[in-house]
Amino acid sequence: MLLHFFKNMKLVFLGTGGSYPTPQRNVPCIALKFQGDILLFDCGEGSQRQLMMSSLSFMQVKKIFISHFHGDHFLGIPGLVQSMNMNDREDPLEIYGPKGTASLIKGLISRGFFGPGFPIHIHELNPSARLEFDNYCIEAIESEHDVPSLAYSFQERDKKGRFDRLRALDLGVPEGPLFSELHEGNSVKVDGKLIRPEEVVGPPRRGKKVVYTGDTRPCQTIIEAAERADVLIHDSTLDSSMSERAMERGHTSADMAASIASKAGVGRLFLVHISPRYTDVKSLEEEAREIFENSSVPEDLFEFEL
Ligand SMILES: [Zn+2]
Ligand SMILES: [Zn+2]
Repeated sequence: MLLHFFKNMKLVFLGTGGSYPTPQRNVPCIALKFQGDILLFDCGEGSQRQLMMSSLSFMQVKKIFISHFHGDHFLGIPGLVQSMNMNDREDPLEIYGPKGTASLIKGLISRGFFGPGFPIHIHELNPSARLEFDNYCIEAIESEHDVPSLAYSFQERDKKGRFDRLRALDLGVPEGPLFSELHEGNSVKVDGKLIRPEEVVGPPRRGKKVVYTGDTRPCQTIIEAAERADVLIHDSTLDSSMSERAMERGHTSADMAASIASKAGVGRLFLVHISPRYTDVKSLEEEAREIFENSSVPEDLFEFEL
């Protein structure tokens, strides 16, 4: 029986700044690596170079989820597509986004002279759309920005409970196919004695949940969607002294993001979309931690295993 000592899921913060790139931070792009697939949440200009400087392969990007069509969130797509093409990609690329995605992306990748040689499928999502994949699902969440926008929730499927091998042996079950039968939830008979799965299999383990907000004002739909998430990655453009200004422009300040994390009871908060005005982010981190202790501002290329 294989023991899974390694983790199969990690986040790579490829771009943590907002609005435009600075020497410290590139524009938004968060990668989630899950069982060999890479999903990108937003893909700002220069994201392909960030990918190349990270531990991830840009060729393994399978799906891109765009929160909205302000330039800092999607202008990395044509360059990335061109590089995939030049590296003989054949696998399809799926691109998801709010209303308007199809015409924008089609226009973008038909510019220039590099028609991609691999399929690109474009999907427009309504808020609350739910996409089911093999071992996870993605939910679109209504967010509040000044153009059509979506936040996204990644949810790994619940996993089977742990199999208690020693207990099974104790009960007289021989190692082999009967172990799998029990782990699959079926009772088995050993020497005329019925062994039920609940005797050797623990309770199902909750799959991980990660929520990415994109650009947004604080909003109730995100608090609800992020309930008990393992990780919340929230817009935190400005500090608390500029909360009003943040709200006016469809953004959130660090303290407000922290209170959302606290209300939703998440495990950890990452503050992103940091305004180019901050070269030092200590004050943002400190004011968030006063409200929600497990808050931090990741640097570009920071990796977090789940
Ligand atoms: Zn932005
Ligand atoms: Zn925006």
